[in-house]
Amino acid sequence: MVMCPCGWGEYASCCGPLHEGERAATTPEELMRSRYAAFAKGDAFYLARTWHPRTRPDDVSADPSIRWTGLDVLASASDGETGTVDFVARYVDSSGPGELREHSRFARRAGRWVYVDGDVG
Ligand SMILES: [Zn+2]
Repeated sequence: MVMCPCGWGEYASCCGPLHEGERAATTPEELMRSRYAAFAKGDAFYLARTWHPRTRPDDVSADPSIRWTGLDVLASASDGETGTVDFVARYVDSSGPGELREHSRFARRAGRWVYVDGDVG
């Protein structure tokens, strides 16, 4: 059994089916977890696919020098069309361990949740 990087459960029944395109995230929190797991696995294609076209960078890539080590979702909310997730993501980079705290915004677009933007800190 391979644990999902997001820490929720087994990868094959957690974020794996989302990364494979077998199903779509049903909530902003689920999408956020799958995006964290995609960063951890270096899946730039999934990151691009789940980023709102209006805010998506031209070059979407996961920085290979960062090793993501854990995720805590602190709060999430959704009204069915827009949503927010507050989380702390832990990592280790060349200067040691660190953490990223973000308030992320999500929107439903053509029936699928996508990441819009976020406030770090
Ligand atoms: Zn997962």
